Amino acid sequence: MDSALNNIKSNNKVIGIPRAISYYNNFPFYYGFFKALGYEVVLSDKTTTEIINNGSKYLVSDTCFPIKVYVGHLVNLLEKGIKTIFVPSIQSVDFKINNCSKVRGLPEIIRNVINEEFTMIEPTLDKTENLGIKDFCTQTANQLEIFDENLISQAIQHAWSYYDKFLDLTHKGHSYEHALDCVINAKDPEMLIKTRDYEVSVVVMAHGYNLFDERISLNLLKKLEQMNVKAYTGLNVSAEDAEKAITELGEIRYWANELDLTGTAGHYLLNRKIDGIIALSAFGCGPDSLMVDEIAYHCRDLNVPLIHLTIDEHTGEAGFVTRLEAFVDMMIRRKRLETIRPQIHTDKQNSGNTEKIINYTNIKKLRKQTTETKEVEAQ
Ligand code: SF4
Repeated sequence: MDSALNNIKSNNKVIGIPRAISYYNNFPFYYGFFKALGYEVVLSDKTTTEIINNGSKYLVSDTCFPIKVYVGHLVNLLEKGIKTIFVPSIQSVDFKINNCSKVRGLPEIIRNVINEEFTMIEPTLDKTENLGIKDFCTQTANQLEIFDENLISQAIQHAWSYYDKFLDLTHKGHSYEHALDCVINAKDPEMLIKTRDYEVSVVVMAHGYNLFDERISLNLLKKLEQMNVKAYTGLNVSAEDAEKAITELGEIRYWANELDLTGTAGHYLLNRKIDGIIALSAFGCGPDSLMVDEIAYHCRDLNVPLIHLTIDEHTGEAGFVTRLEAFVDMMIRRKRLETIRPQIHTDKQNSGNTEKIINYTNIKKLRKQTTETKEVEAQ
């Protein structure tokens, strides 16, 4: 074990965070909070095949891939000698906006499969039951035997300042890795320079823990960059814009990650800023199959291509790349075909598309209003 880790451990106020699930969207918040409470944060290593295999052996085979990865990361922290580990239960992120049962029951899953002695810090966030961020943070601090309310509220403010800075950078177009590096290591962001003209652009609809984990996503974002494809993600869209897109599509926000998936895809779909949609999800994920189906339905209506790539611990890189390359080639061919058509035809088509989107949005709104009226009448 390296000496830096030994030094941290001798400090006694150490908390381990598995580099999986909520880490990917919330780490700046967690980091700011624990730092302000005087804790050193130790992360598990980046995902490797060994971590995946270690996690998989504790769970039944039909458990989804990201949860197997989560367990592997927790085991990795235990192997580092970390004895206090943060395992939150994030039930709902807004009133009746829920996570899937596995994310909700994460502490229970860990308790049932890991037999080693360690302290699990397991706060609950459940806005449906009026347990908001303040309660979540207070539970966390109390479980660490910190009861000073002033210190806790200062730590919450500190956490938000980290998180807001992170979101500000990603909304401006900085990459996930760079934004995180700037926030955690207090660096100034690099100037955003437009270095190239991309041939086509896509939006990737995926959970942060699938997309930004390079091993799980098989480096999807880097592969797209190498293929000269501009990729937008949930981090480039504000919550308000994502929510607006869900409403305009006539859908209802139900799942906790709906803004990252349906909202993000819908935003780019309705604004016509993309040439296609890539849906990346774990094999067997219920919420994703519903959200991808919804977006696929709107893609058919608006004539936008979509590919659904599913991943699990057995996904081979060769097959994954072949499907991706075929999809990118198809988008490039479509785009070239449009540019070589006579201008008059393109103008006609564009005005047709705009009209179609406006009509489409109105139809969706009308459908939603009719459903709401029926619901009120039925009450
Ligand atoms: S949302 Fe899907 S991938 Fe994520 S933990 Fe739940 S079942 Fe697994």
